[in-house]
Amino acid sequence: MKSHARVVVIGGGVVGVGTLHALVKKGWSDVVLIERNELTSGSTWHAAGLLPLFNMSYSVGQIHKYSVKLYDGLEAETGQNVGFKKVSNIRLARTAERMDEYHYYAGVAETIGIKVNFLTPAQVKDIWPLCQIDGIIGAIQHPDDGYIQSADVTQALAKGARDGGAQIYRKTRVIAIEQKPGGEWLIKTDKGDIACEHLVTATGNFVRQTGEMLGLDIPVIPVEHQYIVTEPHPAIVERQKQGLPEMGVLRESDSSWYMREENGGLLLGPYEKGAPCCYVDGPAENAEYELFQEDLDRLAPHIETAITRVPAFGEVGIKKVYNGAICYSPDGSPIIGPAWGKRNLWLNEGHSFGITAAGGAGWQLAEWIVEGEPTIDMMGVDPRRFGPYASRGYLKRKNEEAYRNVFTLHYPDEERFDARPLKRAPCYDRMKTLGAVFGSVYGWERPGWFAPVGYGFDPQEIKRPDVLTNENHAPVAPGEKVKEIWSFRRSNYFAHVGNECRHVHEKVGLLDMSAFAKYEASGPKAEAWLDSILANRIPKKIGRVGLCHVLSEAGGVRSEFTVYRTGAQSFYLVGPGAFERHDWDTLNKLLPDTTGIRLHKVTTRYGVLVLAGPRSREALQKLTDTDLATANFPWLSGRFINVGIAQAHALRVNFVGELGWELHHPIEMQNTIFDLVMAAGAEFDIKPFGIKAMTSMAIEKSYRLIPRELSIEYSAYESGLDRFVHPNKGQFLGRDALVAGREKGLAWNFVTMEVHGVTDKDSDARGSEPIYAKGKLVGRATNGGFGWRVNKSLALAMVKPEHASNGSELEIKILDKLFKATVIPESPYDPDNNALRA
Ligand SMILES: Cc1cc2nc3c(=O)[nH]c(=O)nc-3n(C[C@H](O)[C@H](O)[C@H](O)COP(=O)(O)OP(=O)(O)OC[C@H]3O[C@@H](n4cnc5c(N)ncnc54)[C@H](O)[C@@H]3O)c2cc1C
Repeated sequence: MKSHARVVVIGGGVVGVGTLHALVKKGWSDVVLIERNELTSGSTWHAAGLLPLFNMSYSVGQIHKYSVKLYDGLEAETGQNVGFKKVSNIRLARTAERMDEYHYYAGVAETIGIKVNFLTPAQVKDIWPLCQIDGIIGAIQHPDDGYIQSADVTQALAKGARDGGAQIYRKTRVIAIEQKPGGEWLIKTDKGDIACEHLVTATGNFVRQTGEMLGLDIPVIPVEHQYIVTEPHPAIVERQKQGLPEMGVLRESDSSWYMREENGGLLLGPYEKGAPCCYVDGPAENAEYELFQEDLDRLAPHIETAITRVPAFGEVGIKKVYNGAICYSPDGSPIIGPAWGKRNLWLNEGHSFGITAAGGAGWQLAEWIVEGEPTIDMMGVDPRRFGPYASRGYLKRKNEEAYRNVFTLHYPDEERFDARPLKRAPCYDRMKTLGAVFGSVYGWERPGWFAPVGYGFDPQEIKRPDVLTNENHAPVAPGEKVKEIWSFRRSNYFAHVGNECRHVHEKVGLLDMSAFAKYEASGPKAEAWLDSILANRIPKKIGRVGLCHVLSEAGGVRSEFTVYRTGAQSFYLVGPGAFERHDWDTLNKLLPDTTGIRLHKVTTRYGVLVLAGPRSREALQKLTDTDLATANFPWLSGRFINVGIAQAHALRVNFVGELGWELHHPIEMQNTIFDLVMAAGAEFDIKPFGIKAMTSMAIEKSYRLIPRELSIEYSAYESGLDRFVHPNKGQFLGRDALVAGREKGLAWNFVTMEVHGVTDKDSDARGSEPIYAKGKLVGRATNGGFGWRVNKSLALAMVKPEHASNGSELEIKILDKLFKATVIPESPYDPDNNALRA
């Protein structure tokens, strides 16, 4: 074995080999793969080999698309057949809501460049004559997907990698991993040691053991997954004799299974309820090629619906049932990218559709390792999207939930119920008493909106035939009434969110934002360091507040912070709660190896209550002896104030565009402050409001968000951050690429659009809808919603520069309908920020 390599990849399944291949294609040949047994001996050998392109995530969709294209060309590259059958993939719909899901997805697919067709039931029957079409109202088809021989594609990728110089050590087990003080990795195996600069883990079901070797709790635990293969069926054998095409992959989403032809018979793969987690401590030593005892009881309901839909399935015997481990993460997406807290350690784990994802995952990881950044927005799969809260107990519940929800309707406002509540701000119970309907982010419960007193609806409403209630509307607690009806269209909370927006606009509202991630940077070198990593000028005066971004080397946006200068050498940074681990890791990795800077994460030390609306000053002034008048306390400034007997750093900023203060307070004082503020605000009719109202108001202000219009895929100038980027202040991370990009010409422009003609039966834009000029695709929506203060349906979008000027007449496709849309000036509500400055 070599003693040193530039990169070592652990794991010879399709994902590890795909990464090795991508590194070689990227030009790095001093790369090594270590596999404990034979290539594909993990999960890969027994995969059904399907390559489903369907995915609601913009990141994962692009990864899958890349894989399919790569596999298509592998035979030409390596001379090895990979058994790729482009038989197409049909997903059936039995309800209008399911069709909405397909139409929403079709928008994502179009912006990514994935081809889809809509089929009538009769067209389904033409392609799949063995399929009964009773109750089917339509279907979506991917003509370019199908299935592949998982082992063959892995071997072809291995050949391609070896041809480019990579070395593969089989029958070699990694038993320990160390990082030396200089950063070099030392990989200890049962055949000797090897040192490397970068380490990639792609260890599939062994991920828990890998995590232990690395000292990381990687948020992956596998779940059991079964599929059934039948004996040949005469009708299929006859079709083959006649030379008829394969019928393709059929997915009955509403019954949670897929089916395809297999050796003249059929293969049925269900996503069952009750499938348990497995390998919680990792597989046993001799677990290669391991399959579990099948569980026919769990399969029974799916077999029943499969026979109804495809009677031929019940007419032949079962040849074999496969029950193998399939990796899952809490949200069902893989874990691809840098590990937190360690340099040059890359995770490519947690793949539940690993055959489909391996090519694209390897491609982006290779970009990241070699170039320092990926080329597509990877926030949806970044390992750091989960925090330390995602440990064993949580993972077991959430991963089983993710598995059984593979086929449920993925509403944009879907909230999953398992493992909740986990993190609660102290005011949780108070908010609940006031009617809060909670959503969850990064383990935190946050009020999404408030159901007014007496609010309710007939439970039959969610049993209407076009709403699937299976897993999607479980009560939050036993016996508790469901408060939301999720929808692709305007939902049952739409008008109530509107009332919250109007109330904040006219009076005063209170919002819990304790989930914000918070950090402190201090010390003699803190200012210079922040200045070198942030694109905006650092607030100069104590008490000033600025919005600052960390850019990627290529000038895209990686992180966003509100920076509040608390002292001559101290700064308080506030970032999105969902990206705490990502941002904390980013900051730490940018920290130079010098003394003079102290960096602390203080998220759980401070709660945040946001007081906003024209009466907010009067309410807060009753509680503090600090003069809140603008002359003393202007917009974009902060002060340490007393709030009655309690205290807070009050920051005169907010995300809703009204007069207001964020009160960052010692978390143990939260309920005292909550009660004081509610009592002081009573005479001004203070009411709580939720994240959904905040989001609507933020869109009216054209506020950008990561990972929507702010992303590493767009330069900060393309995202319209000119006001927050100062190339003349001196050197900072990403500056040169940013300037060069502007000189070369921007590829995209951020715009705000008014969407015309949206009615209560329609949907407002949500993000990912395609945008056209005279029928030609010219951009994609990144966010959208109804603006209650401007009384307009709005969309935020990235469009080609020639269509970005105010007044540009465009069209946007929302679900199945085209709407006229006009580019309007930024911040349709209060463009001069008069309310914020008042
Ligand atoms: C029944 C079933 C059907 C499936 N069908 C599909 C499908 O149709 N389409 C699809 O896309 N996906 C499917 N999957 C999922 C797919 O199989 C996995 O996502 C994919 O195989 C994961 O590949 P991997 O390389 O990450 O893991 P693996 O294939 O498990 O590879 C990991 C490798 O790492 C090695 N390893 C681990 N630890 C060490 C160590 N310490 N030292 C050295 N080597 C080590 C292991 O030996 C193993 O070979 C299915 C899964 C199951 C269970």
